[in-house]
Amino acid sequence: MNDKKLYDCLVIGCGMAGSVIARELAERAGKKVLILEMRGHIGGNTYDFKDKNGILIHGYGPHIFHTNSKRVFDYLSRFTTWRNYSHEVVGDIHGQLLPIPFNLNSLHLAYEPSKAGRIEQKLIDTFGFGSKVPILDLRQQHDPELVEIADFIYKNVFLYYTQKQWGLAPEQIDSLVTARVPVFISHDNRYFQDTYQGIPAQSYTSLFAGMLDHPNIELSLNSEARKRLRLESGNVFFDDNPFNGTIIYSGPIDELFDCRYGRLPYRTLDFVFETHEMTWYQPKGTVNYPVNQDYTRITEFKHLTGQVLNERTTIVKEYPRAYTGADSETPYYPIQNPENLTLYERYRTLIAEFPNFHVLGRLAEYKYYNMDAIAAKALELADTLIG
Ligand code: UDP
Repeated sequence: MNDKKLYDCLVIGCGMAGSVIARELAERAGKKVLILEMRGHIGGNTYDFKDKNGILIHGYGPHIFHTNSKRVFDYLSRFTTWRNYSHEVVGDIHGQLLPIPFNLNSLHLAYEPSKAGRIEQKLIDTFGFGSKVPILDLRQQHDPELVEIADFIYKNVFLYYTQKQWGLAPEQIDSLVTARVPVFISHDNRYFQDTYQGIPAQSYTSLFAGMLDHPNIELSLNSEARKRLRLESGNVFFDDNPFNGTIIYSGPIDELFDCRYGRLPYRTLDFVFETHEMTWYQPKGTVNYPVNQDYTRITEFKHLTGQVLNERTTIVKEYPRAYTGADSETPYYPIQNPENLTLYERYRTLIAEFPNFHVLGRLAEYKYYNMDAIAAKALELADTLIG
């Protein structure tokens, strides 16, 4: 008998999307699931590990979990306890560190007291205390002092950072992207206001190990799905044998079809890790560099993880650039614009021929998802598939 028939489901990718759906199908539906993961480790881009200096680092850049979904939080909490951590970010603006998102505390640090007080009142009167105002909306105001503060924030927080991150000006990218970091009419310095936030107490990797630890799940690392899967006139072949079970794919959708219509564009990041012989490198988990430097931000992991170690600390600098599709690169950020979404839809049309084939996650759906949103989507897909 052919081995491949032993599996009811193939899951491609072992990040948040693949791991949650695999666990759900294995546990709730009793399905035999095979996960194919191209990398040599689990956890996708949340993968964390101790570096050679003994510091727990996030290998693909900082990941801070936050969600308003009780379902998602409770679900992940089955596999981890949490370190209670609220992320704070400051922007280095010509040497002065201002809270990001720019808020009323930032305003009072940037302006002399009477002017800051006046602008604060105007912001509250116009938008309401506690509101979150996308910078591009704030720039629509006509009051001269609101125009001035909007210009200040636009120039000092968004313009150069966005140029580095996306290679484009803020108004040239999807407005939802800069709206992720709105001007916050509040004194709350936290980067996120979600009900639940934290970092897995031990590590993301152990959270994923717990999630994947199920007798119905088999994991194949260093396994390139695109070399083992073939999609041909409505039929799916796995290792050259017809496969009629369910397939959940969380990899890049264009690569499934050898990028036949062209590559979907992404931004990637080069990470430069540095270990310094000091207890702390910077005052907060992340310092953004919105007016200078070639990197966008520096994150110091001990702030996030709570690891106690006085002798040294590891930081990471993020250098964004265009993704070329080279095997050594990771596609991190989909560039969502009308042209790219049209290209994505062409690939989706090809997938529609295969009823048991589902796409899930940042790459397969070409969406700028946070971790919790992917987990929520995976749970919803499980509901639909399991019924
Ligand atoms: N952004 C900015 N300056 C900042 C922080 C963010 O211009 O100091 C803009 C930038 O365009 C960025 C977007 O807001 O891509 C979203 O930032 P976020 O921190 O959510 O990005 P992520 O953590 O997903 O990389």
